[in-house]
Amino acid sequence: MASKLKSAARFGARYGLKIRREVSKIEEVSRAKHECPNCFKKSLKRQAAGIWVCKSCNYKMAGGAYQPYTDATKIMEKMFR
Ligand SMILES: [Zn+2]
Repeated sequence: MASKLKSAARFGARYGLKIRREVSKIEEVSRAKHECPNCFKKSLKRQAAGIWVCKSCNYKMAGGAYQPYTDATKIMEKMFR
């Protein structure tokens, strides 16, 4: 419980509950493993904001700060299809 309060306190009282929920959702996505575009294993992990590294093949890519594929990259994919 103490750690939960601490994490919410980082964003201050000026942010609403809805935003805090959104942030925790984003943090969940950022901590989760994602599919590597090189070897297609679920080994892509966030190393730093915008930097994603595959633990399986060491593939390194730039992506969104909190998730490897942002809406912008999705739009790009659609354009090239
Ligand atoms: Zn990989």
